[in-house]
Amino acid sequence: MTNADLGRAQALITSIPDYPEPGVNFRDISPLLADGPAFTAVTEALVAPFVGRFDFVGGLEARGFLFAGAIAAMTGAGILPIRKAGKLPKPAAAVSYSLEYGTATIEAPDVLHPGDRVLLVDDILATGGTLTAAQALVTELGAEVVGSAVVLELTDLVGRAHTGDVHTVFTA
Ligand code: AMP
Repeated sequence: MTNADLGRAQALITSIPDYPEPGVNFRDISPLLADGPAFTAVTEALVAPFVGRFDFVGGLEARGFLFAGAIAAMTGAGILPIRKAGKLPKPAAAVSYSLEYGTATIEAPDVLHPGDRVLLVDDILATGGTLTAAQALVTELGAEVVGSAVVLELTDLVGRAHTGDVHTVFTA
């Protein structure tokens, strides 16, 4: 990885106003994913503080899966896919959390053992609701959350007030 790759990566995250609904400034990481060296640099920066400290990398559906897969291949960790409700045939646990309107539920498969160390990863930290629910889900399964990491933190939304410490590659 080079600093140039990492510097370019941030500029490759674009903002789409009023998507998917009015008032939301959507951060699109598609151009970043399309740039191989930039994606590699971001993935390395995402995992750097945690190398050697986790057994599983938990990716949050859907864009968190991309970083989780890359980190797993890089480090030899297993993957814990944290899914939106209704996608898994036999979820081992489920946690519901509040959205601006209504609630959402996430679920995990039955692959963890008590004491397994899990690093959680996602693309964006916004209100922190999803990541906080993922932390609760892993804990409910008897495993330990050793860290949480996101590519981009939207600091205005103060998500980390809910999640606790989060390692962030970029902030906006
Ligand atoms: P939150 O639970 O509010 O922290 O939202 C985090 C989840 O929603 C992540 O999985 C993101 O992929 C997605 N998300 C939230 N806000 C945005 C945004 N402004 N642009 C892109 N994705 C977002």
